[in-house]
Amino acid sequence: MSTNAIDSKTAGERNEKLVIELLREHKTLSQARICVKTGLGSSTISYIVGRLRDKGLIFEQTGQSSKRGAKPVLIAINAAALFVVGTEINPSYLLTGIFNFKNELIDQVRISLDTDHSVQKVVHLLEINIKGLLGKNEISDDKLIGIGITLSGSISSQGVVQLSSPLGWKNVPLKELLSEKFGCPISIYTTKVRLLAEINAEPALQSKNIVYFNVANGVGATVVVDGRLLHGSTNRCGELGHIVIDPNGPVCGCGQQGCLEAHISGLAIAKKIKHDIENGTNSILAELTNQQDVPEDIVENLKQAIEKGDDYAVRLRDFIADKLSRSVAIAINLYDPDIIILAGYVNEIASDYFVEHIRNRFSTDVFDESFRKIEIISARAGQHALLRGVAAAVLQEQFKIE
Ligand SMILES: [Zn+2]
Repeated sequence: MSTNAIDSKTAGERNEKLVIELLREHKTLSQARICVKTGLGSSTISYIVGRLRDKGLIFEQTGQSSKRGAKPVLIAINAAALFVVGTEINPSYLLTGIFNFKNELIDQVRISLDTDHSVQKVVHLLEINIKGLLGKNEISDDKLIGIGITLSGSISSQGVVQLSSPLGWKNVPLKELLSEKFGCPISIYTTKVRLLAEINAEPALQSKNIVYFNVANGVGATVVVDGRLLHGSTNRCGELGHIVIDPNGPVCGCGQQGCLEAHISGLAIAKKIKHDIENGTNSILAELTNQQDVPEDIVENLKQAIEKGDDYAVRLRDFIADKLSRSVAIAINLYDPDIIILAGYVNEIASDYFVEHIRNRFSTDVFDESFRKIEIISARAGQHALLRGVAAAVLQEQFKIE
């Protein structure tokens, strides 16, 4: 941390960000502790703290002391100083949340999407959703530091959605379209931001080599190697969902045939269940999925059917486990992680079973397995992980230290 610090008033903005980052990490700190942690002198820290206090970004409170004498003055982030909006665009719904300056979710709204995913309609709904939520919570424009949008797909550095196979979008200038509607910075992210929420929930992950394998409406991995998030030359690192596992398999949203995503994504599984039932498959899913169209709901029914021992459902679980474990083994051979995190609603169908299946695959599919120590866990960031991740990404972007 001290290597980032410059003990000079001309580096004020940078040092302010440094102090904010520290307070975000430690909740409260005394001025003396901030000096130690930044390596900056006490007069510099007094100056920075004064400026941040004048801007309303922090406040001081009296702490508890076990010793006699004056109680220490602790400095904390003012949660109500600034706000961030995070939105997830999903083929089934739009989920929007407002987060305070401490990255706490304070309100949210979810609306369902029908089969019309046209850009015009989604952008219109986003505008109504976000402005409605800001109005309801009485958040003025000057307190909103940014809006982050996340979706499954590939996104250029200019915020163009180059391809989203679950949404069926190609070359959509989403950042530009939304910038016309809002006065604050707009950022468009892939679902990789979900890992930020995971690391916030489990700080020990920060030092790990991670393959975060998400199986939801899309299928893909977020990879951290030697402490660095891997992006690749075109930001497409970790697209394991588009490994062709059967050249004669179903057509994928990306346009190719037989991708892993076309076999085990939530959309693919829901489609397969509906197709099989319409063709007379004998399963309790026929009754459970009657009239249902939302993939998350159909996959939730599959989970229940597996727990009840339904033959068809159990076979489908084994099919997913087989494809999942083979692709995780490929990821291990490529990235050499020490932790695999299984995320997404498809992984939740039978997470313990999938973990066991993946582990069993090591002896046949993973090179030099006996030399590796790999932990496999389920994602822990819980509900709204993607929203939390996108809000964390906006805060990081606005307060990043250059
Ligand atoms: Zn594909």
